[in-house]
Amino acid sequence: MAPATKQSILRIPSWAGIKGLYHGFTTRRSGTGRLVGNALRDHLGLNRHRPVLLNQVHGNRIVAVQGARDRARIRQADGAATPLPRTLLTIRTADCLPILAIDPGKGVLGAAHAGWRGISLRIPTQLVRILVSRFDCRPSDILIGLGPAIKACCYRVGEDVRKVFVSRGTPSDSSIFFPGPDGQLRLDLKSAAIRQLRDAGVPPGNLASVDLCTACRSDLLFSRRREGPGPDRMHAFITREETRLPLV
Ligand SMILES: [Zn+2]
Repeated sequence: MAPATKQSILRIPSWAGIKGLYHGFTTRRSGTGRLVGNALRDHLGLNRHRPVLLNQVHGNRIVAVQGARDRARIRQADGAATPLPRTLLTIRTADCLPILAIDPGKGVLGAAHAGWRGISLRIPTQLVRILVSRFDCRPSDILIGLGPAIKACCYRVGEDVRKVFVSRGTPSDSSIFFPGPDGQLRLDLKSAAIRQLRDAGVPPGNLASVDLCTACRSDLLFSRRREGPGPDRMHAFITREETRLPLV
């Protein structure tokens, strides 16, 4: 298989100047749809980086990766955070929202998988919390990169989904759930995540996003809603070299 080309991976443009950082969101064109672990790492050209393996379960658990032992185990979790260099965090999605995080001053990285269930359980809030509580980051120093996800144009949901948010006390106002042109309820995953990230203290200027809808752009992206269940996924990834801090 040919290595993933630069053109086939989407990136946060404002992160280009962060020293030693590798990040991105793979696409249908990356040739990585079915790859995991070392195979994915090698395809991305990150052979010297050690992948953290997550078994994503639509929960809100985020693991702190602080040593080799943490990296070796497969964790039932929907996110990871680490201060370690050459530690490759990856999230698999095909409609759900991938969230990447970095504190450039401390070299701490994070990644989370945020579908409606995880967002209703406040996984975006949890991502900020673990960076603060385990790695001493300040919310105002955390940069967030949101990857491609299904957007409200294509994300029809039932009233039962909104009720889950309400029952958990998770923000669910009319900027998050609203009727579409067909009168059916829509969910804006990104707005829901951004609300939580801002409430957790991340400044609006620290939020960046790849603003593509997975269902609208099935030429480029995988969408479970559009295509049905299948093995192919996009991968959000983030890792860094052993670089002198701060990174910017
Ligand atoms: Zn769409």
